[in-house]
Amino acid sequence: MTTLFSPVETPFRKIVTPIPVPESLPILERMRRYEPLSMTGLPAVIWDRAEGIQVYDAYGNMWLDWTAGVLVANAGHAHPVIVNAIIEQANHGLLFNFIYPSDIRIRLAEQLVELAPPPLKKAFLLTTGAEATENAIKISRTWGQKVGGRKKHVIITFEGAFHGRTLGAQMAGGIPSLKSWIGTETPGFIQVPFPDRFICSDLSFRVFEESLKSQGVEADDVCAVMIESYHGRLVSFAPEEYIHDLRQWCTQYNALLVFDEVQASFGRTGKWFAFQHYSVEADLVCCGKGITSSLPLSVVLGRADLMDLFEPGSMSSTHTGNPICVAACLANIDVLKRENLITHAADMEPILFTVLNQIADEHADIIGMVDGRGLVAGLRMVKPGTKQPDPDIAQKIVHSAVARGLLILDPAYPATIKIHPPLCITTEAIKDGAIALSEAISIAFQAS
Ligand code: PLP
Repeated sequence: MTTLFSPVETPFRKIVTPIPVPESLPILERMRRYEPLSMTGLPAVIWDRAEGIQVYDAYGNMWLDWTAGVLVANAGHAHPVIVNAIIEQANHGLLFNFIYPSDIRIRLAEQLVELAPPPLKKAFLLTTGAEATENAIKISRTWGQKVGGRKKHVIITFEGAFHGRTLGAQMAGGIPSLKSWIGTETPGFIQVPFPDRFICSDLSFRVFEESLKSQGVEADDVCAVMIESYHGRLVSFAPEEYIHDLRQWCTQYNALLVFDEVQASFGRTGKWFAFQHYSVEADLVCCGKGITSSLPLSVVLGRADLMDLFEPGSMSSTHTGNPICVAACLANIDVLKRENLITHAADMEPILFTVLNQIADEHADIIGMVDGRGLVAGLRMVKPGTKQPDPDIAQKIVHSAVARGLLILDPAYPATIKIHPPLCITTEAIKDGAIALSEAISIAFQAS
């Protein structure tokens, strides 16, 4: 998608070329030739470097980043403490020790368990978010068989949910178009409506129970309910009462409650873990992305009895607890604490939502809802005056914003514009970004 070029210069944004940059076209053509088509689609910003809340290309353009990569750079891009920790660990002598014990890995497991609320007592380090959710699925089914036999294998997830792109994670996901490649039905994975106040306006827990009944699911056959702590594609939190009822239901039917925090934890919502907003206990929690603000690392945190279900030697992954990723994670935790970034995310919430609500008031017929918490927000784009998602306008807005120097990810399915800057963003940068977003909406609306 090409957008009209007009130069931009503010303290946080500088655009001096059309996007895509004409000089960069050969790189984009090589990308198209050597990488899968599926990797294209995002605005063609060729990142050269990133620092704090800014992203730079090699052609003189600078963006204000409202993506944190893809909810990764919570501490800010290239934080010097994290960079130095990575360099020091590499200088120590590049070490690949598989799952032989290492002091640094065990130190991290200990710190993660200390951060996590009870009864989460053990940590299994992995590499990607999907690996963590797959592992939670495996633990849930194994535990179900142990306590209820083979019948107790059903995993409940939510419509529109995303848990990763590997087979088990996609079976658990709630976006039908992402699952069509599987080619068969996915027995044992059942989706129920997410109480988001917009598509699903009945917020009572009855909807959950009725949905199971209408799909012929026996409660006793359920081994786990896996829920994103906030619905990632809608940026929606379930009502606290609903989650309390869900916790009670899981306890009553001996089903595990699993929170997928891959994008929600490490301060994003103003708490270390987003499920802490609900004041309930979790049986398993999956984290990734913002856990290092940089390198690939994920973790499953869980009750000791669940994490100890498998025999010695039967839970491993080649890069589990790679020392360099672990060093990045320890440094990230240190930065989040020392710079009070989690409190800062909570403090920025009213500022972010004030400007977003103003924008929503100005464009009331195409912004159906503003939702979120801390430093994650979603604008639901709708066809004028309806609740019907409008992916086209959402896409145009994202591309126009990028041309105005504001980096936003492609809209989340079906048409949510997601906002999730690094947690070190300032009031001035939020206000500057809001100006760009408002301009982008007006440009996109006129062009549609
Ligand atoms: N779970 C959630 C809620 C996610 O948002 C994602 C990624 O976007 C994943 C799981 C998968 O993580 P990864 O891409 O690291 O495999």
